[in-house]
Amino acid sequence: MERTLILIKPDGVARGLVGQILARIEAKGYRIDALSLRTATADELSAHYAEHEGKPFYQPLVDFMSEGPIVSIIASGQGVIPGFRSLAGATDPTAAAPGTIRGDLGRDWGEKVQKNLVHGSDSVESAEREIGIWFPA
Ligand code: ADP
Ligand code: MG
Repeated sequence: MERTLILIKPDGVARGLVGQILARIEAKGYRIDALSLRTATADELSAHYAEHEGKPFYQPLVDFMSEGPIVSIIASGQGVIPGFRSLAGATDPTAAAPGTIRGDLGRDWGEKVQKNLVHGSDSVESAEREIGIWFPA
């Protein structure tokens, strides 16, 4: 069964949105196979965001992701990788469509666009790589 790695970022946890976000994942029909709440290590974050290293937003992103606990989730279901990205909405919460997690619940923009509540893997390869980082065997 297709599976993906979802993160509820520190802003989502701090704002008390974990329940609402999990409810949307489950209401869509995806299964939650694993779930953990903890503060990420520097190594986990540099591995997770390796593709963005060197970009101007990299350091603010990693700093923000270190600010507090993160909920990491393995979710499964048919089409869960693109399906969760649709549920999450566009990267910028001010541009994300109403009905999406970022569009309904996110507000930060500009230099704070990293505060967009959730992460979802963007391909099968990313999902397997990211699951290995957050849920080492
Ligand atoms: P997505 O999470 O939608 O897949 P990307 O993979 O492009 O987006 O970027 C990873 C994360 O980096 C985004 O979710 C967001 O938190 C942050 N980010 C992306 N672009 C910017 C930017 N221009 N400024 C600040 N943070 C950004
Ligand atoms: Mg991405």
